[in-house]
Amino acid sequence: MSNQNRIEFLVKEIKHHRDLYYNEQAEISDAEFDIMEKELRNLDPANKLLKEIGASPKRSKIKNPTFLGSLDKVSMEKFPEWLSKHDDILISEKLDGMSVWIEFDKGSILKAGTRGDGQIGEDITDKVKTFVPEIKSSKHVILRGEAILKGDELYGYKNRRNAVAGILNRDDNKNVDKLSVKFYTVIDGKQTVECDFLFIESLGLPVAEWKHIGDKTKLQKQLDHLLDNKDQDYDIDGYVVQSGDEKIAYKHDSEAVETEVENIEWNVTRTGRIQPVLNVKPIYITGIEVRNATAFNAKFIRDNRLGKGSKVSIVRANEVIPYIEKVLSESPDYKLPKICPSCGVELGRNGVDLVCLNTSCYEQNILKIMHFMLNLDVEGMSDTTLRKISVNTIYDLYDPEIINVKRIAAVGGLGTTSATRIIDEINKTLLTTPVKLLAAFGISNFSEKMAQKLLQNFKFDQIFDLTYANLIDIEGIGPNKAQDFLNEIVPWKKTYEFLKSKGLKFIEQKTTDTLKGKSFCITGTLSKPRKEFETMIVNSGGRLGSVSKKLDYLVTGSSATQHKVEKAKQLAIPIIDESKLISLLK
Ligand SMILES: [Zn+2]
Repeated sequence: MSNQNRIEFLVKEIKHHRDLYYNEQAEISDAEFDIMEKELRNLDPANKLLKEIGASPKRSKIKNPTFLGSLDKVSMEKFPEWLSKHDDILISEKLDGMSVWIEFDKGSILKAGTRGDGQIGEDITDKVKTFVPEIKSSKHVILRGEAILKGDELYGYKNRRNAVAGILNRDDNKNVDKLSVKFYTVIDGKQTVECDFLFIESLGLPVAEWKHIGDKTKLQKQLDHLLDNKDQDYDIDGYVVQSGDEKIAYKHDSEAVETEVENIEWNVTRTGRIQPVLNVKPIYITGIEVRNATAFNAKFIRDNRLGKGSKVSIVRANEVIPYIEKVLSESPDYKLPKICPSCGVELGRNGVDLVCLNTSCYEQNILKIMHFMLNLDVEGMSDTTLRKISVNTIYDLYDPEIINVKRIAAVGGLGTTSATRIIDEINKTLLTTPVKLLAAFGISNFSEKMAQKLLQNFKFDQIFDLTYANLIDIEGIGPNKAQDFLNEIVPWKKTYEFLKSKGLKFIEQKTTDTLKGKSFCITGTLSKPRKEFETMIVNSGGRLGSVSKKLDYLVTGSSATQHKVEKAKQLAIPIIDESKLISLLK
């Protein structure tokens, strides 16, 4: 397809999907829409359709409470082998709707979001309030579950899964009361899966059907039987089989569909990785139209000589972009890009990936700014707005000539109230914790938890001069993470100096080692939010743990989780109350 044909094709597609979106019948995910929009922007930056898209309201984004991954799928041939290595099996339904998380505080819903790309999802707080009940609990809990649709009425959508996405995407609340959520995990609950299920049930919320399996010899037969005889009035696409912390998806191998590659699109990620996305001849997998699939990395493309004309078989995993299961034929047209699709600078290599090493690469910078803002709790500004007001670097965020109410309001999409709020939030980023700031830098594979561990050992001022040996000494940091950190931390020193010059202040964190080496688990309600006590414990050199042989203290408040107390008693772990904890902290 020539460029001109491709442009015409994209314009047609984007219009088609935009209309569906506004008629509340979205057929593709926001991520897929963004991919098409991005391709059009590359091919024809002046296309007037782009301006129209820019003006569309984007759903507001929300940062997930923690990284929410998707499940690994074990192939059916390998399942017996997996099973032979695991004991104490628990199975639960793998629901097929939309993965969501909901934060409850004192019984009511505080925040809710979709899983999105794992880190950032869409804010569905208001919608969820209309179909998820309040809970009878004074606890602060974050739960993960699946929004589903029950029954045979599809409200004009192609299938139940599309209906869930479509209803959650609407601007109004039409049919939203037809949805429900089945829960399955307590986020950061640090307990066994079974305890999670029991706890959620005790809150009066519905859970995914689950079962603790004693005799695992017949498990595979049982699962096959269950899958062949589905009789729920909602969709499941397999079972989650778990043992301890490890879990896999068990489903029938019927979803791979063959198609042909039309083009490989290369996208720059936040950290400069150049990520291949396949555009394929449209196919339907379990009723969903698929046009794009992830192709992992440059090495995968090279090893399989993938390109226009390659035949591939594609699998749709639960709500993530579909991926290639098998490459069926090579392409005569195989080639890897030599320059960055955003900045045009020659690409380098890092392991299996091609990387753009240009520190002023526009696309990388925009993604970095978005990540930075979200991690420092600045919500509400889309990357479209950022591009329009010519924010090119993090420094620009603090430049009143660039970021001001007038300019933000002038590019459209946001009113003066929202603009004022965003600027307020940007100013507040100068008062933050070291952990949040380090996490906001967005080093590859370096979560907030990692940042916390690192900063338990080093002061913020020291992190720019750490050695490989320093890093590898920290629990949870392996050779790859350490190397990524060393490679990526360098340019942030300048940003840190800049933020200091703008008045950056860290929120006072008194760090002592009164509790050094001691681990604590808190259950029940204390006089202040649990998070505050946990922060005090960590700042005093202590650790947070779950009830196990290694735990030093279980701290209980009112309405403590009974099984934790029981287990602690069995293990002869000291059980203390809040006043005792405070005396230990002194
Ligand atoms: Zn670049």
